[in-house]
Amino acid sequence: MRAAEFVGDGALRLAERPVPGAPDGWAPVRVRAAGVCGTELHFLEGLIDPMGMPRVLGHEIAGEVAGARAGSPGSRAAVYNVMNCGSCRYCNTNRDRLCTRSGGMIGFTADGGFAEYVIVPERNLVPLPDTVPFEAGAVLACSGMTAVHAVRLAGIGIGDPAVVNGIGGVGLMLTQVAALAGATVLAVADEAAKLELARSLGARAGLVIDDPEGYETLPGEASRMLGRAPDVFFETVGTRETMRAGFSCLAPGGSFVQIGYTSQPLDIHPGALIKNELRILTSAAGSKSDLETAIALAAQGLLKTVVATRTDLDGLEAAILSLKDRRVLGRNVVTFA
Ligand SMILES: [Zn+2]
Ligand SMILES: [Zn+2]
Repeated sequence: MRAAEFVGDGALRLAERPVPGAPDGWAPVRVRAAGVCGTELHFLEGLIDPMGMPRVLGHEIAGEVAGARAGSPGSRAAVYNVMNCGSCRYCNTNRDRLCTRSGGMIGFTADGGFAEYVIVPERNLVPLPDTVPFEAGAVLACSGMTAVHAVRLAGIGIGDPAVVNGIGGVGLMLTQVAALAGATVLAVADEAAKLELARSLGARAGLVIDDPEGYETLPGEASRMLGRAPDVFFETVGTRETMRAGFSCLAPGGSFVQIGYTSQPLDIHPGALIKNELRILTSAAGSKSDLETAIALAAQGLLKTVVATRTDLDGLEAAILSLKDRRVLGRNVVTFA
């Protein structure tokens, strides 16, 4: 099979590999779509260690179950990429990602979906209804699930004003899920086209901020546009300036939800948090039930996936690098015939 291998030092190479054999309890999946995440860039930039190379990246996977179960009901599937134990206290409370006996993550520490086939534990397969295309399933398996998880953690209530900062793949999903949960969403994008997209998907207000200094205006603008200071700030960008602006714009008792990050540190004096009892929440990916919820919402037409570009494996590197300048409208997806 063809596979794109990450070989370190920011480099990918295309390789021919044997189709991997599935051990007991695992299933081979013929990959039909694999989303290209900002995380891929983090690997290439050396921010995440794949624990062994060459590694096939790609953790946003949808495809058809191959092998013995091929063609059976549920053989169209999205892959939940966290290989958790299923029985520890985290797995039992919908925080699978925190599993204390985790077997790692597909597309991170185990080979992922930028290949024609991937093997996954059978219990990591989430059936994909016929009404949800493979490419949507792939995107839901990361950004959709992440958005559901973050909105659940934030505990949003009906009519709560919230800011979604950064309208990339995750931001578009967050906008929709926060709005479904009842929030009045202000989307902050770095270009007008992204903002238009966010508004078409449920953001009630929007702001284009395209340089770091522009974030100084955010607290005032957010209060003005939302009617009052927001209760929740979803951070998908993670630069010094955006994080500082996020804390500054929150209402007393508000929650800063860190989802995206860069190499820049969070730099805030605890006094600034304490005086208004601000909360910092961090949200990493999601649980299998978050993914099931995202897929159910998509099947009802309530959660839309925006595909920016489609490519084959040959175009993967360019698709990853295009994320660098944050000019991608939605998600780039690698598709397989
Ligand atoms: Zn991802
Ligand atoms: Zn567990």
